[in-house]
Amino acid sequence: MLTVHVDNQKYDIHIEEGALEQTGSWLQTIWKPQKVAVITDTNVAPLYAEKIMFQLRQADFEPVLSIVPAGETSKSLEQAAELYDFLADNDFTRSDGILALGGGMVGDLAAFVASTFMRGIHFVQLPTTLLAQVDSSIGGKTAVNTNKAKNLVGTFSQPAGVLIDPEVLKTLPVRRLREGIAEIIKSAAIADAMLWRQLNELKDEKDLLEHAVPIITATLKIKRKVVEEDVFDQGNRLILNFGHTIGHAIENTAGYGVVSHGEGVAIGMVAITSHAEKIGLSPTGSTAALERILQKFHLPITYDLSHSEELFHAITHDKKARGSQLNIILLEKIGQAKIVPVPTETFKDYLGGL
Ligand code: NAD
Ligand code: ZN
Repeated sequence: MLTVHVDNQKYDIHIEEGALEQTGSWLQTIWKPQKVAVITDTNVAPLYAEKIMFQLRQADFEPVLSIVPAGETSKSLEQAAELYDFLADNDFTRSDGILALGGGMVGDLAAFVASTFMRGIHFVQLPTTLLAQVDSSIGGKTAVNTNKAKNLVGTFSQPAGVLIDPEVLKTLPVRRLREGIAEIIKSAAIADAMLWRQLNELKDEKDLLEHAVPIITATLKIKRKVVEEDVFDQGNRLILNFGHTIGHAIENTAGYGVVSHGEGVAIGMVAITSHAEKIGLSPTGSTAALERILQKFHLPITYDLSHSEELFHAITHDKKARGSQLNIILLEKIGQAKIVPVPTETFKDYLGGL
């Protein structure tokens, strides 16, 4: 178990194989019997919703279920409004709670709704994708997308608890699993040489799943440390964005679903490190080490650069790009990274690293 301390609050993350079977008793340690809205999506519901509803009833909670369409388009103000209606129709008050059961989409949406309904009700996270288990379920960022941009509207709001069961990853499509692995590799590269060694010793995705508890725990410890130091994302939290500037741009320009977030990050990490190594800012061999580990988990390391102008435009118009400088994350060595501001024009050179 891990405890996260933020903003004068704290919450626990419980990580255990088969933990979903204990949802009821786990929730009793957080909330007294009350109404709980289980929010999930159309892919996760048939797999796990009934089990959770049963668990909650057994533990004297009064669960109600809301299933939103799977996919990023549900992370919207319209969907949030429907959920407000659902809560109101079920007479939810500020003492009732929300349980988010799903990947990062459900997690961000349900947490956004919880943090705004009646000025904020409590929520817990049961992340069911690897990406959500190692990344989005902690950190306190909630969001919905608008027509203008992804994650444009949101709040900072901490969950009352997080329950992680790696067993649920067995039903996750392998490409989704690899997305989470890309974030784990990123975390090891920027902050944990020991986790990096552990990843190097694994044979494949299946082997990683067999060691899921220690690997997820180690990855969450990295995010916890960064988040605790920079709750509102104004400084060092940027370090978690290693590979993300190029990654986001590729993800957004390739067309929806062509390059996943994790695949973009994989390509981005290689591009940055390759150029940084060339100009002596990252150590010799770091690119090859990164490529080896990414390839073992079938993550891409190159990208067709025929659209580099479009990519560059996407990068300089990213909401995180500030003026004439871009902050990039470079590896000082495996397990350690730093934030370096570079002039926007110079950043073009990093695309040449692809
Ligand atoms: P997702 O929630 O859309 O899930 C991916 C797909 O897997 C969906 O089709 C879903 O229905 C399905 N699925 C989920 N769990 C499953 C399971 N156990 N078995 C079978 N299918 C399952 O996507 P994601 O990658 O988990 O999350 C992406 C979202 O997370 C984005 O909206 C992104 O903005 C957000 N995010 C938020 C933060 C944060 O700090 N809040 C950080 C990173 C990403
Ligand atoms: Zn990411």
